[in-house]
Amino acid sequence: RNVLMWFRNDLRIRDNKALYAASMRSKVGGNNKFLIALYIISEEEWKEHDEAAVKIDFWMRNLTTLKASLDKLAIPLVVKTAPKKTDVAKVVEGVVSDMDVSHVFWSGELMVDERKRDRLVREALEKHSGVYVEEHEDQCIVSPEDVRTKTGNPYAVFTPFYNTWCRLVETEPHYLEITEMPDANPPEAKEIFAEHFKTNPPSSHPHPLDINEMKRRYPAGEDEAHTRLEKFIQEKGKGYHQGRDVPDQDGTSVLSPYLNAGVLSTRQCVVAARTANKNKIQSGDEGLKTWIKELGWREFYRHILVAFPRVCMSRAFQPKTERVQWSDNDAHFQLWTEGKTGFPIVDAGKRYLLLLASCMRQLKATGYMHNRLRMIVACFLVKDLLVNWQKGEKYFMNSLIDGDLASNNGGWQWSASTGTDSQPYFRVFNPLLQSKRYDPKGEYIRRWVPELKTLTEQQIHDPSQALSPKEFAKLGYPKPIVDHAEAKTKYLEEFKRALALA
Ligand code: FAD
Repeated sequence: RNVLMWFRNDLRIRDNKALYAASMRSKVGGNNKFLIALYIISEEEWKEHDEAAVKIDFWMRNLTTLKASLDKLAIPLVVKTAPKKTDVAKVVEGVVSDMDVSHVFWSGELMVDERKRDRLVREALEKHSGVYVEEHEDQCIVSPEDVRTKTGNPYAVFTPFYNTWCRLVETEPHYLEITEMPDANPPEAKEIFAEHFKTNPPSSHPHPLDINEMKRRYPAGEDEAHTRLEKFIQEKGKGYHQGRDVPDQDGTSVLSPYLNAGVLSTRQCVVAARTANKNKIQSGDEGLKTWIKELGWREFYRHILVAFPRVCMSRAFQPKTERVQWSDNDAHFQLWTEGKTGFPIVDAGKRYLLLLASCMRQLKATGYMHNRLRMIVACFLVKDLLVNWQKGEKYFMNSLIDGDLASNNGGWQWSASTGTDSQPYFRVFNPLLQSKRYDPKGEYIRRWVPELKTLTEQQIHDPSQALSPKEFAKLGYPKPIVDHAEAKTKYLEEFKRALALA
């Protein structure tokens, strides 16, 4: 009987634990056993998770490149749809029975709904069909159960988490072992499963952006991801600690879309950076060490999701912050989404997203926002406009090509001071100072806010103050929708009240 590998958010053949284990299983016990790959499209799951159309498109393009890689190994890829998420178990059972499968392998997921779904599928397969299910933990380099405080609890603060995580990674070599490639099926698989080799998965998904531009910016596939990784390490890794905070420079890796689709594993990234850093993680080159630490944040937020599942159920990490009374000013939220707040740096950041959401502008859309800007626009929405961070979180998920529940939720809760070791609530970014600090010449703003492209570097950060009313009116650019100092006072009063600090 055959072996099934169910791909989900691990669209790669290299360094894929479950795939390798499935491949080894298919070699046990003689001939006429084949490894079969499965992918299930569940529109209901996409919708429930607010997945952006542009992200789904990226995933579908990667599914096509995955199929090409599997073809070379004579592994057929079966693609099924489950109109409702409750249909998933039936779909897997159907494939198991049609294709005479005895063992099913997959990579465990972290989110509550997916874990519940997997439990149901496992029960259905093991109890009803007598099929053996093997789940592999491969979402994190170090399993969430392994990183514990001295008292055996999960960490809720990044720095001690990261120190323990680094110690484990450095002392137990298995964490950074790259898994071998799966073996090819015997060549006759091509004939036996001919119809599956002929059928292609959907290679795109409709989205409102420039399709060719998105393909150019984010080509699909493992080869592309590895080329980017190597290029980043060689050309920018050592300057990362300096370049990463300048939005107008491409100082970061832009690997997040690939990491989140599982086209690349976090382990592959850490191994590449560590090798370039003479096998060091917490010391050595400043840039490489800082980059590895950012990957540590990715791990941290994944661990948080497992240890504190309330964060993926629309709850704040710090429940007491749920007492904050958010503004119901929808117009402000709308202006924020449209990049019309009157704060150029916020708008420049938002326009990245605006383009993504509406494709109205002729600027090139990216589907991606620089980390510094994510922090600035998130802080502005929550602390200047007093809008519930969950609205921003949802809007981001709906818009980003790299939308990821753990990192997005972690990033929003950090920015909103409701999260793990979030910003203290009284730290409120001043958009003007952020703008001057991170975009001193205003180049990033000029790129994304064309109304302001003729302004000098002295004028561009705060045009309504720097220009005469007449000059300002000619720009066709809005005045700031709030007074930052007043907004800050209002926010601080509300937060203090909610936390009973007042
Ligand atoms: P690099 O700077 O090259 O870093 C390498 C990798 O490390 C990233 O690809 C990412 O996987 C990880 N990483 C870096 N910074 C962080 C961080 N602060 N938290 C967690 N992981 C990190 N990241 C997402 O992948 N998906 C999201 O939906 C997402 N939403 C965010 C929302 C907010 C409000 C904030 C403040 C941050 C969010 N981030 C998110 C984290 C971060 O902004 C992105 O991971 C980063 O900008 C991706 O660009 P890069 O690949 O060039 O990163």
